[in-house]
Amino acid sequence: MPEYEAVIGLETHIQLNTASKIFCACKADSWDDAPNSNICPVCTGLPGVLPVLNQAAVDKAALLAAAMGAFLGVWKILLVFVLSAAIGLAISLVVMAFSASLRKHRIIPFGPSLALAAVVAGFWGQEIIRFYLAHFAGR
Ligand SMILES: [Zn+2]
Repeated sequence: MPEYEAVIGLETHIQLNTASKIFCACKADSWDDAPNSNICPVCTGLPGVLPVLNQAAVDKAALLAAAMGAFLGVWKILLVFVLSAAIGLAISLVVMAFSASLRKHRIIPFGPSLALAAVVAGFWGQEIIRFYLAHFAGR
């Protein structure tokens, strides 16, 4: 029997409330549409297409990052990135453990992970950063 090594990756996305997708003019909110009815060559990644970045998505992402940064500060924002990924991974593992299907791709909202990480960083961020620096960074 061949030996296998489990490699688990976590890719997180956030859906901003823009009218169009981030790299093309297709509408962003197509949850009620038929599958593959709201796509274009850019969405499908066909060779030779030229994606155009949606400025509204950039503006809203920058606004979200600036608001969180203004409230928490630079170090706690970095902590939020790490914590939100860890919380998202924990939620994903729980969902996978209790899910009947073995689908490879799942849509798990990342917003709650981000919000919970921001709350944890807001209340206990200094202590977590101090603990990390003392035990893992040698400071
Ligand atoms: Zn498209």
